Amino acid sequence: EAKANGRNQYALHSEQMASVVLQRLALENALHHAIERNELSLHYQLRISASDHLPTGTEALLRWQHPEMGQIAPGDFIPVAEHSGMILDIGEWALRRACEQHTEWREAGLAPGIMAVNISAVQFKQGDFVERVLRIVSETRMVAGQLELELTESMLADNPENAAAVMQQLRNHGIGLAIDDFGTGYSSLSYLKRFPASRIKIDRSFVHDIDLNQEDAAIAAAIVALARNLNIDVTAEGVETGAQLAHLAPLACADYQGFYFARPLPADEVRAALLPHTAAV
Ligand code: C2E
Ligand code: MG
Ligand code: MG
Ligand code: MG
Repeated sequence: EAKANGRNQYALHSEQMASVVLQRLALENALHHAIERNELSLHYQLRISASDHLPTGTEALLRWQHPEMGQIAPGDFIPVAEHSGMILDIGEWALRRACEQHTEWREAGLAPGIMAVNISAVQFKQGDFVERVLRIVSETRMVAGQLELELTESMLADNPENAAAVMQQLRNHGIGLAIDDFGTGYSSLSYLKRFPASRIKIDRSFVHDIDLNQEDAAIAAAIVALARNLNIDVTAEGVETGAQLAHLAPLACADYQGFYFARPLPADEVRAALLPHTAAV
Protein backbone atom coordinates (compact mmCIF):
# COMPACT_ATOMS: atom_id res chain seq x y z
CA GLU A 1 0.00 0.00 0.00
CA ALA A 2 2.73 2.42 1.09
CA LYS A 3 4.86 1.30 -1.82
CA ALA A 4 2.07 1.81 -4.34
CA ASN A 5 1.50 5.20 -2.87
CA GLY A 6 5.15 6.05 -3.25
CA ARG A 7 5.10 4.95 -6.87
CA ASN A 8 2.11 7.16 -7.55
CA GLN A 9 3.83 10.09 -6.03
CA TYR A 10 6.86 9.41 -8.15
CA ALA A 11 4.70 9.13 -11.25
CA LEU A 12 2.98 12.38 -10.42
CA HIS A 13 6.29 14.07 -9.82
CA SER A 14 7.73 12.97 -13.13
CA GLU A 15 4.50 13.96 -14.89
CA GLN A 16 4.81 17.39 -13.41
CA MET A 17 8.40 17.56 -14.53
CA ALA A 18 7.44 16.49 -18.01
CA SER A 19 4.81 19.17 -18.14
CA VAL A 20 7.31 21.80 -17.05
CA VAL A 21 9.64 20.66 -19.83
CA LEU A 22 6.79 20.65 -22.34
CA GLN A 23 5.75 24.10 -21.25
CA ARG A 24 9.26 25.36 -21.72
CA LEU A 25 9.48 23.74 -25.15
CA ALA A 26 6.11 25.17 -26.15
CA LEU A 27 7.18 28.63 -25.02
CA GLU A 28 10.51 28.28 -26.77
CA ASN A 29 8.82 27.19 -29.94
CA ALA A 30 6.30 30.02 -29.83
CA LEU A 31 9.02 32.53 -29.03
CA HIS A 32 10.84 31.60 -32.25
CA HIS A 33 8.07 33.29 -34.21
CA ALA A 34 7.32 36.12 -31.82
CA ILE A 35 9.44 38.81 -33.46
CA GLU A 36 8.48 38.10 -37.07
CA ARG A 37 4.80 37.80 -36.13
CA ASN A 38 4.86 41.13 -34.34
CA GLU A 39 3.84 39.65 -31.02
CA LEU A 40 6.49 41.51 -29.03
CA SER A 41 6.11 45.10 -28.01
CA LEU A 42 7.56 47.51 -25.50
CA HIS A 43 5.73 49.29 -22.75
CA TYR A 44 7.29 52.31 -21.09
CA GLN A 45 7.20 53.15 -17.40
CA LEU A 46 7.81 56.77 -16.43
CA ARG A 47 10.49 57.80 -13.99
CA ILE A 48 9.60 60.81 -11.89
CA SER A 49 11.98 63.39 -10.44
CA ALA A 50 12.10 63.25 -6.65
CA SER A 51 12.35 67.04 -6.43
CA ASP A 52 9.45 68.21 -8.62
CA HIS A 53 7.70 64.97 -9.65
CA LEU A 54 8.15 65.78 -13.34
CA PRO A 55 9.16 62.95 -15.71
CA THR A 56 12.89 62.31 -16.03
CA GLY A 57 12.61 59.43 -18.47
CA THR A 58 11.14 56.01 -19.09
CA GLU A 59 12.14 52.35 -18.80
CA ALA A 60 11.33 50.11 -21.76
CA LEU A 61 9.77 46.79 -20.70
CA LEU A 62 9.11 43.88 -23.03
CA ARG A 63 5.59 42.59 -23.53
CA TRP A 64 4.59 39.40 -25.38
CA GLN A 65 1.03 38.94 -26.57
CA HIS A 66 0.61 35.40 -27.94
CA PRO A 67 -2.53 34.80 -30.06
CA GLU A 68 -3.64 31.74 -28.03
CA MET A 69 -1.69 31.89 -24.77
CA GLY A 70 -2.42 35.58 -24.23
CA GLN A 71 -0.05 37.93 -22.36
CA ILE A 72 3.08 36.15 -21.20
CA ALA A 73 5.07 37.92 -18.48
CA PRO A 74 8.75 38.79 -19.04
CA GLY A 75 9.56 36.84 -15.88
CA ASP A 76 8.26 33.73 -17.68
CA PHE A 77 9.65 34.13 -21.18
CA ILE A 78 12.95 35.95 -20.65
CA PRO A 79 14.57 32.97 -18.86
CA VAL A 80 13.43 30.76 -21.78
CA ALA A 81 14.84 33.26 -24.27
CA GLU A 82 18.12 33.37 -22.36
CA HIS A 83 18.37 29.59 -22.11
CA SER A 84 17.82 29.15 -25.86
CA GLY A 85 19.97 32.09 -26.96
CA MET A 86 16.96 33.84 -28.50
CA ILE A 87 17.48 36.72 -26.08
CA LEU A 88 20.22 37.94 -28.43
CA ASP A 89 17.71 38.72 -31.18
CA ILE A 90 14.98 39.76 -28.79
CA GLY A 91 17.24 42.01 -26.72
CA GLU A 92 18.65 43.62 -29.83
CA TRP A 93 15.13 44.18 -31.15
CA ALA A 94 14.10 45.78 -27.84
CA LEU A 95 17.12 48.10 -27.75
CA ARG A 96 16.52 49.19 -31.34
CA ARG A 97 12.78 49.72 -30.81
CA ALA A 98 13.36 51.75 -27.63
CA CYS A 99 15.89 53.99 -29.41
CA GLU A 100 13.54 54.43 -32.39
CA GLN A 101 10.73 55.38 -30.02
CA HIS A 102 12.93 57.95 -28.28
CA THR A 103 13.82 59.50 -31.64
CA GLU A 104 10.14 59.53 -32.69
CA TRP A 105 9.24 61.37 -29.51
CA ARG A 106 12.05 63.90 -29.90
CA GLU A 107 11.13 64.51 -33.52
CA ALA A 108 7.53 65.13 -32.39
CA GLY A 109 8.80 67.96 -30.15
CA LEU A 110 8.81 66.03 -26.88
CA ALA A 111 11.56 65.70 -24.26
CA PRO A 112 11.50 61.99 -23.36
CA GLY A 113 14.54 62.27 -21.06
CA ILE A 114 16.44 59.10 -20.27
CA MET A 115 15.48 55.92 -22.14
CA ALA A 116 16.42 52.94 -19.97
CA VAL A 117 16.71 49.49 -21.57
CA ASN A 118 17.27 46.19 -19.74
CA ILE A 119 20.20 44.11 -20.94
CA SER A 120 20.51 40.36 -20.44
CA ALA A 121 23.72 38.75 -19.21
CA VAL A 122 23.80 36.78 -22.46
CA GLN A 123 23.89 40.00 -24.50
CA PHE A 124 26.42 41.65 -22.23
CA LYS A 125 28.83 38.72 -22.63
CA GLN A 126 29.02 39.03 -26.42
CA GLY A 127 32.52 40.04 -27.51
CA ASP A 128 31.11 42.77 -29.74
CA PHE A 129 28.44 44.06 -27.36
CA VAL A 130 29.75 47.65 -27.35
CA GLU A 131 29.90 47.76 -31.17
CA ARG A 132 26.35 46.41 -31.38
CA VAL A 133 25.03 49.06 -29.03
CA LEU A 134 26.88 51.87 -30.83
CA ARG A 135 25.60 50.68 -34.20
CA ILE A 136 22.01 50.76 -32.98
CA VAL A 137 22.49 54.21 -31.42
CA SER A 138 23.83 55.52 -34.70
CA GLU A 139 21.27 53.81 -36.98
CA THR A 140 18.32 55.03 -34.90
CA ARG A 141 19.77 58.54 -34.37
CA MET A 142 19.50 58.00 -30.64
CA VAL A 143 21.16 60.53 -28.32
CA ALA A 144 23.84 58.44 -26.59
CA GLY A 145 23.69 60.62 -23.47
CA GLN A 146 20.02 59.79 -23.03
CA LEU A 147 20.41 56.04 -23.33
CA GLU A 148 20.84 54.08 -20.13
CA LEU A 149 21.48 50.34 -20.07
CA GLU A 150 20.24 48.44 -17.02
CA LEU A 151 22.57 45.68 -15.85
CA THR A 152 22.30 43.42 -12.81
CA GLU A 153 24.84 42.67 -10.13
CA SER A 154 25.15 38.99 -11.06
CA MET A 155 26.27 39.93 -14.60
CA LEU A 156 29.19 41.81 -13.15
CA ALA A 157 30.26 39.11 -10.69
CA ASP A 158 30.90 36.63 -13.51
CA ASN A 159 33.94 38.27 -15.02
CA PRO A 160 34.51 41.52 -13.13
CA GLU A 161 37.56 42.78 -15.04
CA ASN A 162 35.89 42.35 -18.41
CA ALA A 163 32.60 43.78 -17.15
CA ALA A 164 34.31 46.89 -15.82
CA ALA A 165 36.17 47.39 -19.11
CA VAL A 166 32.97 47.02 -21.19
CA MET A 167 31.18 49.43 -18.89
CA GLN A 168 33.97 51.98 -19.19
CA GLN A 169 33.84 51.83 -23.00
CA LEU A 170 30.11 52.48 -22.96
CA ARG A 171 30.53 55.34 -20.49
CA ASN A 172 33.24 56.84 -22.72
CA HIS A 173 30.58 57.09 -25.43
CA GLY A 174 28.25 58.90 -23.03
CA ILE A 175 25.93 55.95 -22.46
CA GLY A 176 24.52 55.68 -18.94
CA LEU A 177 24.70 52.45 -16.95
CA ALA A 178 22.36 51.51 -14.14
CA ILE A 179 22.71 48.61 -11.74
CA ASP A 180 19.17 47.24 -11.55
CA ASP A 181 17.58 45.54 -8.53
CA PHE A 182 20.45 46.82 -6.41
CA GLY A 183 20.86 45.08 -3.08
CA THR A 184 19.44 41.71 -4.12
CA GLY A 185 22.57 40.10 -5.62
CA TYR A 186 25.78 39.00 -3.97
CA SER A 187 26.95 42.44 -4.40
CA SER A 188 28.31 44.66 -1.86
CA LEU A 189 28.63 48.36 -1.70
CA SER A 190 32.19 47.96 -3.01
CA TYR A 191 30.62 47.26 -6.42
CA LEU A 192 29.92 50.94 -6.64
CA LYS A 193 33.61 51.72 -6.56
CA ARG A 194 34.66 48.87 -8.78
CA PHE A 195 32.22 49.35 -11.67
CA PRO A 196 31.63 52.67 -13.45
CA ALA A 197 27.85 52.82 -13.00
CA SER A 198 26.06 56.13 -13.35
CA ARG A 199 22.96 55.00 -11.48
CA ILE A 200 21.71 52.37 -9.11
CA LYS A 201 18.11 51.29 -8.82
CA ILE A 202 17.22 50.28 -5.28
CA ASP A 203 15.32 47.04 -5.55
CA ARG A 204 11.63 47.27 -4.83
CA SER A 205 11.91 44.72 -2.02
CA PHE A 206 13.55 47.45 0.11
CA VAL A 207 10.96 50.02 -0.88
CA HIS A 208 8.03 47.71 -0.24
CA ASP A 209 8.17 47.83 3.56
CA ILE A 210 10.17 51.01 3.97
CA ASP A 211 7.35 52.55 6.00
CA LEU A 212 7.02 49.46 8.23
CA ASN A 213 10.46 47.92 8.52
CA GLN A 214 13.33 49.83 10.11
CA GLU A 215 16.00 47.57 8.61
CA ASP A 216 14.75 48.11 5.05
CA ALA A 217 14.65 51.85 5.70
CA ALA A 218 18.21 51.77 7.07
CA ILE A 219 19.51 49.80 4.09
CA ALA A 220 17.86 52.15 1.61
CA ALA A 221 19.24 55.19 3.46
CA ALA A 222 22.78 53.72 3.51
CA ILE A 223 22.66 52.91 -0.23
CA VAL A 224 21.52 56.43 -1.13
CA ALA A 225 24.08 58.13 1.12
CA LEU A 226 26.99 56.12 -0.26
CA ALA A 227 25.86 56.52 -3.87
CA ARG A 228 25.56 60.24 -3.39
CA ASN A 229 29.15 60.48 -2.16
CA LEU A 230 30.28 58.53 -5.21
CA ASN A 231 28.29 60.79 -7.53
CA ILE A 232 25.92 58.03 -8.56
CA ASP A 233 22.22 58.81 -9.02
CA VAL A 234 19.70 56.63 -7.25
CA THR A 235 16.28 55.56 -8.51
CA ALA A 236 13.89 53.94 -6.05
CA GLU A 237 11.89 51.19 -7.78
CA GLY A 238 8.45 49.88 -6.96
CA VAL A 239 7.00 52.94 -5.23
CA GLU A 240 3.35 52.04 -4.75
CA THR A 241 2.02 54.18 -1.89
CA GLY A 242 2.14 57.65 -0.42
CA ALA A 243 3.46 56.19 2.83
CA GLN A 244 6.46 54.69 1.02
CA LEU A 245 7.04 57.99 -0.71
CA ALA A 246 6.97 59.88 2.60
CA HIS A 247 9.69 57.58 3.96
CA LEU A 248 11.77 57.87 0.79
CA ALA A 249 11.62 61.66 0.63
CA PRO A 250 14.32 62.44 3.27
CA LEU A 251 16.75 60.04 1.54
CA ALA A 252 17.13 62.34 -1.47
CA CYS A 253 16.93 59.83 -4.31
CA ALA A 254 17.21 61.38 -7.77
CA ASP A 255 13.98 59.82 -8.95
CA TYR A 256 11.22 57.32 -8.40
CA GLN A 257 9.60 54.63 -10.47
CA GLY A 258 6.48 52.74 -9.47
CA PHE A 259 2.77 52.14 -9.81
CA TYR A 260 2.09 55.11 -7.48
CA PHE A 261 3.15 57.38 -10.36
CA ALA A 262 2.63 55.28 -13.47
CA ARG A 263 2.32 51.70 -14.66
CA PRO A 264 4.22 50.56 -17.72
CA LEU A 265 2.10 51.75 -20.66
CA PRO A 266 2.10 51.55 -24.45
CA ALA A 267 3.99 54.40 -26.13
CA ASP A 268 0.78 56.22 -27.15
CA GLU A 269 -0.38 56.42 -23.55
CA VAL A 270 2.97 57.58 -22.16
CA ARG A 271 3.24 60.32 -24.72
CA ALA A 272 0.69 62.58 -23.00
CA ALA A 273 2.78 62.62 -19.81
CA LEU A 274 6.02 63.65 -21.52
CA LEU A 275 7.10 67.28 -21.39
CA PRO A 276 7.29 69.36 -24.54
CA HIS A 277 10.87 69.92 -25.64
CA THR A 278 10.70 73.66 -24.86
CA ALA A 279 9.78 73.05 -21.23
CA ALA A 280 12.84 70.91 -20.65
CA VAL A 281 15.63 72.58 -18.72
P1 C2E B 1 12.99 45.25 -13.89
O1 C2E B 1 13.95 45.70 -14.92
O2 C2E B 1 13.40 45.38 -12.46
O3 C2E B 1 11.66 46.08 -14.19
C1 C2E B 1 10.77 46.53 -13.22
C2 C2E B 1 9.63 45.57 -13.03
O4 C2E B 1 8.87 45.98 -11.90
C3 C2E B 1 8.64 45.57 -14.21
O5 C2E B 1 8.08 44.26 -14.31
C4 C2E B 1 7.59 46.57 -13.73
O6 C2E B 1 6.34 46.40 -14.33
C5 C2E B 1 7.55 46.24 -12.27
N1 C2E B 1 7.09 47.38 -11.47
C6 C2E B 1 7.25 48.70 -11.70
N2 C2E B 1 6.72 49.44 -10.72
C7 C2E B 1 6.20 48.58 -9.82
C8 C2E B 1 5.49 48.75 -8.57
O7 C2E B 1 5.23 49.85 -8.09
N3 C2E B 1 5.13 47.61 -7.93
C9 C2E B 1 5.41 46.36 -8.42
N4 C2E B 1 4.99 45.31 -7.72
N5 C2E B 1 6.05 46.17 -9.60
C10 C2E B 1 6.45 47.27 -10.29
P2 C2E B 1 7.98 43.51 -15.70
O8 C2E B 1 7.62 44.46 -16.79
O9 C2E B 1 7.12 42.31 -15.46
O10 C2E B 1 9.47 43.05 -15.97
C11 C2E B 1 10.07 42.11 -15.14
C12 C2E B 1 11.53 41.97 -15.44
O11 C2E B 1 11.74 41.42 -16.74
C13 C2E B 1 12.29 43.30 -15.46
O12 C2E B 1 12.57 43.70 -14.15
C14 C2E B 1 13.52 42.90 -16.24
O13 C2E B 1 14.44 42.25 -15.40
C15 C2E B 1 12.94 41.90 -17.22
N6 C2E B 1 12.77 42.57 -18.52
C16 C2E B 1 11.75 43.32 -18.97
N7 C2E B 1 12.00 43.79 -20.22
C17 C2E B 1 13.22 43.32 -20.56
C18 C2E B 1 14.06 43.45 -21.75
O14 C2E B 1 13.75 44.14 -22.72
N8 C2E B 1 15.26 42.77 -21.71
C19 C2E B 1 15.65 42.04 -20.64
N9 C2E B 1 16.84 41.40 -20.69
N10 C2E B 1 14.91 41.92 -19.51
C20 C2E B 1 13.71 42.55 -19.49
MG1 MG C 1 15.04 47.30 -15.19
MG1 MG D 1 14.48 46.46 -11.26
MG1 MG E 1 15.25 42.87 -12.99
